[in-house]
Amino acid sequence: MNTQMQSDTAGPAEDERQPPVPQEVLRTWAGRGTGAQCSLCGRSIQVQEVEYEIELAPSGTGRSLYFHFDCYRTWDAQSQRGI
Ligand SMILES: [Zn+2]
Repeated sequence: MNTQMQSDTAGPAEDERQPPVPQEVLRTWAGRGTGAQCSLCGRSIQVQEVEYEIELAPSGTGRSLYFHFDCYRTWDAQSQRGI
């Protein structure tokens, strides 16, 4: 559960890495599907499938994206090519 409220303090930017995607990605990890809706194809990610979760920077939308394994690869390839 992520119900904790965090104050939006503007601290110094220590991480100056620039990811090759339009949106700033904080973390990416893969795991078993949790039934979340895929941000690319819109279908739910089943438990027997691999689920990729992409956490975006709070300065952007401040939310996470969920992808199937194949959808993540498609999205990532499009992101890097579309700049
Ligand atoms: Zn998908």
